[in-house]
Amino acid sequence: MYYDEDGGEFREELRDLLAAEIEPVVDEADREPLTREEFLEYTGVLRELDVGFSPEMAREYFGNLERFAIVSEEVSRVWPSLNVALQMSFPSVFVRHAAEPTREALLDDLQAGECIGCLAVTEPEGGSDTARPNTVARKDGDEYVLKGKKEWVGNAPIADVALVVAHDEEADTQDMFLVDQPTSPFETETMDKLGWKGVNNGKMHFDGVRVPEDNRLSNIVGNALMEGADMQEIVPFPEAVSQLFFEQKALNATFSFMRTGMSFMAVGIMQAAFDEALDYVHERETFGKPIGENQLVQEKLYEILRDLETSRHLSRHALELLKRGDDRARLYSSLAKGYTSERSVDATYNALQVHGGEGLKTENRLERYYRDASVMTIPDGTTEIQKLIVGKELTDMSAY
Ligand SMILES: Cc1cc2nc3c(=O)[nH]c(=O)nc-3n(C[C@H](O)[C@H](O)[C@H](O)COP(=O)(O)OP(=O)(O)OC[C@H]3O[C@@H](n4cnc5c(N)ncnc54)[C@H](O)[C@@H]3O)c2cc1C
Repeated sequence: MYYDEDGGEFREELRDLLAAEIEPVVDEADREPLTREEFLEYTGVLRELDVGFSPEMAREYFGNLERFAIVSEEVSRVWPSLNVALQMSFPSVFVRHAAEPTREALLDDLQAGECIGCLAVTEPEGGSDTARPNTVARKDGDEYVLKGKKEWVGNAPIADVALVVAHDEEADTQDMFLVDQPTSPFETETMDKLGWKGVNNGKMHFDGVRVPEDNRLSNIVGNALMEGADMQEIVPFPEAVSQLFFEQKALNATFSFMRTGMSFMAVGIMQAAFDEALDYVHERETFGKPIGENQLVQEKLYEILRDLETSRHLSRHALELLKRGDDRARLYSSLAKGYTSERSVDATYNALQVHGGEGLKTENRLERYYRDASVMTIPDGTTEIQKLIVGKELTDMSAY
């Protein structure tokens, strides 16, 4: 396939692992949001291949973007929810350089790869506008007091630690704050939804939650640099990507990274749907012949493969730009996320249609692929917002 030089063997090993450990359980496991124990059990499987968030693994997983893309695609080919749950746990990496109470509470779990994280950006008043959060962080002595609400946050109800976007009143700027559940408890509530059923998305309530000043993200990074850590130790991205955190807003750089991952996720979902559709056209017979002999069915295969392959190539291009720390990474990650998410809805719909009534049965996977694809067009910015980001990057004029 496409990653032979850097990822051929890893991709094969990952495929084998997923086939042995995840395939057999995914249909049942995806019916409900993951509990903490289930999250640790299934991500524990991936740790067998060094895919996880202990400091060493984070460098292997996030620090090697080829690997990151392969994980996103291959895990999503089998279980998109698992990919999201794993990926959204990334804020746990900041525990390593956080305030002492946070480190004391969670460092052992982090080292063991068992510290669950989440990223809390979206607010009930509207998720598209992330520029000025209503959640505020008020300085009080050597602490910040957080007040506000978040929703849709992946892993929130099972998270040990949350990276919360808030408006820092004193500095009159947006920042992120690492809030750990053991020493700065916050309330959560699980939300139900159409697809990605396994991801435990939740509402979060911060009603005067106190956080040490050293847990402000800019302080975490600044303190760690002063103690002699290099950037890759703090944020385990390759150097070129870390550079984007300085050149762009940290949140924008984070989104460029996550949206590229989402694009490969869409590719994985489409690949699964395509594989099943191709098998089925040989198996199913109507009018005394396999349905694959019908021109209209072949047209559907053409369309699914077209959507899959154009998405794969665009995702690949976005990844290359990200790897180079190219300043077009933001534009292309939005272009790729917007395009591939929409294509995944079309492709899974076509695959479902090829299966006729079988495609609608909940005992088969087609309806899950279609539900999971439908969710892709909303998180990390809706398709409309991706269009506006591309427009802004192209014209230097903001339409939002
Ligand atoms: C399954 C799932 C997982 C998620 N995970 C997380 C997570 O882990 N962390 C997190 O912080 N958030 C998460 N989110 C939230 C997600 O990022 C937001 O739902 C998304 O950004 C859209 O925000 P919204 O739902 O409030 O829609 P709104 O902002 O209310 O938008 C409603 C509609 O209006 C359109 N719209 C809004 N503004 C404009 C504009 N200026 N021009 C044109 N159209 C516009 C949108 O495209 C959309 O169609 C998740 C959401 C889902 C569904």
